[in-house]
Formats: sequence, C-alpha cells, structure tokens
Amino acid sequence: MQVNEQRLVDTFLSLVHIDSPAKQEEAISRHLAKMLAALGGRVQRDEVGNVLAHFPGVGEPIILNAHMDTVGQDTGIKPVIRDGIIYSDGTTILGGDDKSGVAVILEVLNMLQEAAPKQRPALEVLFSVSEEIGLVGASHFDTTQLRGKHGMVLDSGGPIGTIIIGAPYQDNHKITVHGKSSHAGAAPEKGISAIEVAAAAITIMPLGRIDPETTANVGIIRGGSATNIITETVYAESEARSLQEEKLKAQTERMRQAWLGVATVRGAKVDFESRRVYNGYYFDADQPWVAYLGERMRAAGFEPLLKTSGGGSDANIFNNAGLTMAVLSTGMTNVHTHQEQIAVQDMVDAAKALWSIVTGVV
Ligand SMILES: [Zn+2]
Repeated sequence: MQVNEQRLVDTFLSLVHIDSPAKQEEAISRHLAKMLAALGGRVQRDEVGNVLAHFPGVGEPIILNAHMDTVGQDTGIKPVIRDGIIYSDGTTILGGDDKSGVAVILEVLNMLQEAAPKQRPALEVLFSVSEEIGLVGASHFDTTQLRGKHGMVLDSGGPIGTIIIGAPYQDNHKITVHGKSSHAGAAPEKGISAIEVAAAAITIMPLGRIDPETTANVGIIRGGSATNIITETVYAESEARSLQEEKLKAQTERMRQAWLGVATVRGAKVDFESRRVYNGYYFDADQPWVAYLGERMRAAGFEPLLKTSGGGSDANIFNNAGLTMAVLSTGMTNVHTHQEQIAVQDMVDAAKALWSIVTGVV
C-alpha cells in the first residue's frame, strides 16, 4: 500500500492554513471532526474541544494521538515548499508541531479507506487541544472513553524510527523575595535588597544540566524600580526536570534551600511555591508494546531508535493515566522557531511507519 504523497502534503498545508494557537482551536477542531467522520469514524468532541473518533475493526483499538494547537500566538502562516522541504515564510512558525502528526494520521486513515482490507485494525484517533500551554487538553480528556490501552503520540522530531520511551517529571517554581526598601543614598543600611538576595541565591543553586537525567533553569526574574531605592520585592520563576522522580524532588529542594538559606542570613523572607506540571514515564526496551513498535519499524524499513526526551508531551498525561503511549517522530525540525521546517519525505516515511504499525495487528 502506497502513501499518497500529494494528498499528504495537501492535507498538511490545508491544516497549516487554519490558525490554531492554543485556546483558539475551535475552527480546526470542527474541521477535523468533519474529516474524521467522512473517513468513517464515530466522532465526539468534549467541552474543551478534544476530538475523539472511534474506527471499528479487529482487536483492541490502537490509540493515535496528535495535538491540534500550535505554539505561541503566530497566525496567518504562509507555508512554502523548496526542494522537498516545507518552511514558513520566515515570519512565523510553521506549525508542523504538531500538524505533521495530524496529517500523517489522516493519511493512514485515507490509506485504510482506500485499501478497504477485509480485516481493519480497530483505531481510536484523538486530536487534543492546548498541548503547548501545559498539556491542558490531554489533562482534561476523559480516558475512560477509550477502549484501547496502547498507542502512539506523533509529536517528536528526529529520524523516522525514533521511539520516545521516556520523558521527565517537571516541577515549576514561583518565588517571591521580600526584602526591605530604603533610600539607597540616605539610608542604605536600613534596607534589605531583594535583588542581592536573589543574585546570591541563584549563584549558589545548581542549574543547567545537573546530571544526565536532570536539568534546572531560572527563566524569569523581575524586580526593582529605580537606582535610588533598595529593592523590596523580587519575583522569579524556575523549573526543574528529571527522568527520576526522586532526583526531581531533590533538585527542587536544593533550589528551595538556596533561596531560604540566603534569605535567612540576610534577614529577608522568601515564598517558594512548587507545582508538579506533569509526571514522567519510562518504558523498558523489552516492554511488549515498545518491542512491537520496533519490530514494525524494521518491517517498514526504518531502524528503531529508542530515546528519552527532555520535555513532556501529551504522552506524559496518558501514560500516567494507565495507557501505554510511545512518542514517534514525524521529522519536524527547529520547532518553536521561525526556522521550523519539515521534509516531505520524512512525513511520507512517518506515514509508512504508522501504516506498518496499525496494520501489523491484523
Ligand atoms: Zn508538539
């Protein structure tokens, strides 16, 4: 069975033309609900706009997921194709993250309809909203609507054959330093500079790549209003991630202790709030579903590449809800930048691999 390259590219381009920053997915969600119904799916939309389509067939359904939203606020995206590569015009993202995943899933559904095999694999297709602003659609999705227990999230870059078998836990932190204001020229000794407290705390806390499984970053810092005022308040935000939950807890604790320790010494106060953004997951290479995916990748001519990711995706939510979802590459490159691009051949190959996986069960 051949991938229809022209149809796949046309589908992708038509999706890119529908603006869909997070929280603005109404149009694309309705459009995709119609397309899935036309392809034979029994479609339902939930209150946040997630689209779920059941396709009857043999066996326990395989779950196919991609997210409909695009990162940031870019709209009016004008895709251009040069030498087999699809780019934006350079003034916006492309939105291949994750419309390439959506387009590849639609292509495989088209192929199934065309081939009309006697035995069709049962599928559950879920297009989620607001992944880019914190896995919001997946978090709202009621997984008890699914009969399937395992599947794939098409939402990664890398060579086709890439199978993401693990992703980190992540904590986000909000910090407020309360110092004491004073006139910087007349009475500096009466003040406690929140800026100095923040500088000292950030200097002593471990940041960057902590170990092969753990990272941390202070990403936002705000404070101060004039050079002649000792700054009373500084606000900061940071994050920590680790593939190991225990390591994440330890890293968040080290960051908290850095703030509190410096504040205590300098007579300031610190509010440190930590929130778990998502939980991680990890599958062994011999986990049966992972082994099956590798086998079908090979059958389609792609070398399976098992990897862990440094970032979360909707798979984190699904895997922590008891499903088994690996993330596959569609070939998307330079995502979240205006240099985002995707090779047509990679999307074609991603569809070949997905075809091999879904038809391998019948
Ligand atoms: Zn994505």
